[in-house]
Amino acid sequence: MGSEVAQLLEAADFAAHKHRRQRRMDPEGTPYINHPIGVARILTHEAGVTDLAVLQAALLHDTVEDTDATLEEVELRFGARVRRLVEEVTDDKTLPKPERKRLQVERAPHSSPGAKLVKLADKLYNLRDLNRCTPKGWSEHRVQEYFEWAAQVVRGLQGTSPRLEEALQQLFRERGLTL
Ligand code: NDP
Ligand code: ZN
Repeated sequence: MGSEVAQLLEAADFAAHKHRRQRRMDPEGTPYINHPIGVARILTHEAGVTDLAVLQAALLHDTVEDTDATLEEVELRFGARVRRLVEEVTDDKTLPKPERKRLQVERAPHSSPGAKLVKLADKLYNLRDLNRCTPKGWSEHRVQEYFEWAAQVVRGLQGTSPRLEEALQQLFRERGLTL
């Protein structure tokens, strides 16, 4: 194995390749990879995370859910711990959307500390993105509903990172919600 920096870049490169044809839902259609890179950056810059496997999992967190990447492939390249973290943050796409949303709320409190960090940073990135601009086709009501659901998930992730939770708390307060 090479240095930790090399291993981190390996995950960034893998995610960039897998997400290469995908765009975010914002009106500019930002390249999808901006999101996992931003989630990993929130963990290093705002939560002080240095655990390589957690940062790799942040970079890889949407690859299995949204691309042809498999958990087996992730384990082969990045090891069993990264695989388990990615597995914990991957929704079962065979389930209907409302059920997947419900399961995120239900499972959040039982996640491992590393998975909780990735989930908090993922929600923080997405909520900031929604405040920056509304996705194509979304009403203000739908944005507010997303904040309400995110608050339910984040309630089950508390006691993980005071700084991320404070940043999220502030965004929820601005929407009239509390944790
Ligand atoms: P989602 O609510 O799942 O879409 C949000 C997800 O899209 C985020 O979690 C994020 O996931 C990703 N994403 C991509 N680009 C952005 C961005 N710019 N800003 C924030 N998030 C972004 O929507 P779906 O379209 O998949 O909708 C299905 C669900 O939405 C249903 O369960 C239904 O309840 C609800 N719905 C509500 C409506 C309403 O009017 N209230 C109308 C239609 C559906 P990731 O981190 O994985 O990329
Ligand atoms: Zn995500």
